Parts: sequence; C-alpha cells; structure tokens
Amino acid sequence: MGKPTVGIFGLTGCAGDQLAILNCEDELLDLVAFIDIRDFLMGSSGNDTGCALDVALVEGAVLTNRDAEMLRAIRQRSGLLVALGTCAVWGGVAALDRNADRARLLEEIYGETGHGYDSMPARALHELVKVDLRITGCPIEKDQFLAAIAGLLNGDLPVYPDYALCTECRMRENNCLLIERGEVCCGPLTVAGCGARCPELRIACIGCRGPLDDANPNSMLEMLEKKGIGRRQVEDKLRTFAPIGARQ
Ligand code: SF4
Ligand code: SF4
Repeated sequence: MGKPTVGIFGLTGCAGDQLAILNCEDELLDLVAFIDIRDFLMGSSGNDTGCALDVALVEGAVLTNRDAEMLRAIRQRSGLLVALGTCAVWGGVAALDRNADRARLLEEIYGETGHGYDSMPARALHELVKVDLRITGCPIEKDQFLAAIAGLLNGDLPVYPDYALCTECRMRENNCLLIERGEVCCGPLTVAGCGARCPELRIACIGCRGPLDDANPNSMLEMLEKKGIGRRQVEDKLRTFAPIGARQ
C-alpha cells in the first residue's frame, strides 16, 4: 500500500497552524517518509490541486464565498477532514464580530469600496461541512499534530484532553491566579492541551484553545461573580476565541 495522501490548506487566518507544522523541523523528514504531502501551497510551489486525498488538514475560518467554495471542494476530494486551529474549530478571532452589521463594519474599515468585498461573518468549518477531527489551539500544539498523524497512520483517531486547563495547571503545582490573585483566568472553561502555558508564566489564560465541551459556564460565571469578578469581564475575554456556549 502506498503512503497516505495528505493536503494542508489555509482559509482566512494567520497561517500560524501551517507554520506550526513547518516548525516540526526535527520530525519533518520522518513525516514525509510516512505520508505523501500532495497539496500544501505554503510549503511547496508544485502541488497536485485535484488529486484525491486521504486526509485534508484545513486551517482558518470561512469568511468569504471563496473560502466556502474551497472548503467544499476540499471536503469532496478528502477521506478525512481535520479542522486545524481555533479559527477552523470555533471561528476564532475573526468570529468576534460575527453578529455585528457586516456592511457597517466593511464601510468603517474600507470606506465605500467595502461594499464590493467578498466578506461574510466568520464560520467554523463544521458549520459548512463534516469535520472528522478537530485539533484546537492558537496555534495548534505540535505534539497534538504529530499524534494526529501517528493515529491516522494506525487507522485510529487520537484522543485529546477533554478536561479543563485548570487540571493541567494544578498538576504543574501552580498557585491559582483566580483564587489567589483574583485575576480573570479562563482556565476553568478552557480545554486543556497546552500544558497551562500562560499560568505557568503567571499570566492569566485568555482561552485561546476554545471552550471545554463539558463546561458549565453559567455555574462558573455565578461563582466568579461571588468572588467579585463580573460576568461581562469573563465573557469579553472568552469571546476573543470562541463565544461562551459555542459547541460542535
Ligand atoms: S491559574 Fe487559571 S488555569 Fe490555573 S488553576 Fe487557576 S484558574 Fe485554573
Ligand atoms: S494557557 Fe490559555 S491562553 Fe495560554 S496557551 Fe493555553 S489555552 Fe491559550
């Protein structure tokens, strides 16, 4: 059997997840020994843009008709579709204003010419097509990407943490920023997987990995209000990457 064929694509986003893949410098040669990367515009100028793919990894949110068409075409030619990064999984930073008046936003930024732009409120990939695996993070964690490739080569999907960031934080024996300093730390509502990188550096988590599926935001917000942290403060912080209550 030949190597599995893989495509790596970017919709509207910062390309940080594709860069995270290219940054797997020590593992890149092993990767290309096991997978056949056929279509990866950011990594190669020679691509097969029409072949069938076993796996497509797609970064970015859908903000334009062009994105939507591209995503549907990728879905059609791929066996498995992986949403790569917080924008692809949740809508991400671009979805901050998804309920705002689009025409007004375009005019505010681009003046009269804004009316002609191909631009729509940001959507996550699963809002348009079936997504088989999500690797969240802003950007993704290298280890989770490599685990996904290893899992897919073995014919199964990787299992990622499904618990709150606080668990990782406490396992690292950090003092809690929320309890001990009264800071707005989004750890209780954020899915683990980054090793509590920010609290480890004494910086409150801003929830860049997106929400925990099983979180109970209302109960958490009530508890925080009792500690003097306003609901709005937490909601504003969390909605930078995914609105409270966002679920697949
Ligand atoms: S510092 Fe933040 S992530 Fe760590 S335990 Fe406290 S609330 Fe959770
Ligand atoms: S601690 Fe929070 S903000 Fe920092 S990388 Fe992890 S999820 Fe993102």
